[in-house]
Amino acid sequence: MSPTNTFISKLEKAFDVLKPLAVFGSFAEFQSVMSKIGGTDDESLRLASFEDLEGIGVPKLKAKQIANIFRAKDTASDADEQDAALMIHKPISDWPVELLLKKANPNKPYSSEMIELKKRFGDKSVIAFNDDDTFNLDVTLKVIERIQEGFTIDLAMYANKRIYKVGEGPWRIKDACPLHPDIPLIDGRCHKCQQTWSKLSKTLRRVVYFIGKRKLVDVSSRPQVIELFKMASTSDANTPDAVLANETLCNTYPEALHDYNDAKKRDELPGLTVDIGADENGGGNPFGKSRKF
Ligand SMILES: [Zn+2]
Repeated sequence: MSPTNTFISKLEKAFDVLKPLAVFGSFAEFQSVMSKIGGTDDESLRLASFEDLEGIGVPKLKAKQIANIFRAKDTASDADEQDAALMIHKPISDWPVELLLKKANPNKPYSSEMIELKKRFGDKSVIAFNDDDTFNLDVTLKVIERIQEGFTIDLAMYANKRIYKVGEGPWRIKDACPLHPDIPLIDGRCHKCQQTWSKLSKTLRRVVYFIGKRKLVDVSSRPQVIELFKMASTSDANTPDAVLANETLCNTYPEALHDYNDAKKRDELPGLTVDIGADENGGGNPFGKSRKF
């Protein structure tokens, strides 16, 4: 039941066509160029014309060949649907993994489908998500295929997607308080310092992070935190050039601005995010492991 005409398979076929011409250095590069013109799923690939492909440097006849590959429909899908209709009355342990993934809701970790997935894959990372937090079937099935082929190392990334364990997912990643980087913002607010940091641009939050890191304010002093928040959120705080737009903050804390610029130059800016499910025992996580936001 492995998909033959899905997104990744099509990209792989197309890359094979291009390989002898060395138009792209690697599959990853090809995929990244495709995603820049919007080719991020099967549906958008189907819309690609050969002119589109010429636009990214593919010679005309190869472009026509690839456009045909992208347009191919999954002829197996009708048969698959009939299979699925029969399967659904059988015990869940007999279901093919594709059907499980189609029926499972990642937000219901205690549903029978999710429990069955967990049973099959345990702590192996196999699940990829779409941007709307639904399962990405194409990539997930590919990863599972790779694992079945004998890959023993957990894949952290595959086909530009982060790969998660069953039961985990991108919704666990929350913005963090810039003054308490281990505390997630809930509805934009830090429960420790009581400030709604989400009102600030990420750039400004990063400057605030360096202010805290250098202990230029006492983060346990409420008046000092409030004053800092006020200063950071005044002025043109949400322009892309937020740092420069907020002169008061920059002039008051030049060291923090220096740290920020330095980190930016080295491409080491703090992510300022927290994985709210990272600690499986709930210890150190103020909300426990199963709290939903
Ligand atoms: Zn805080």
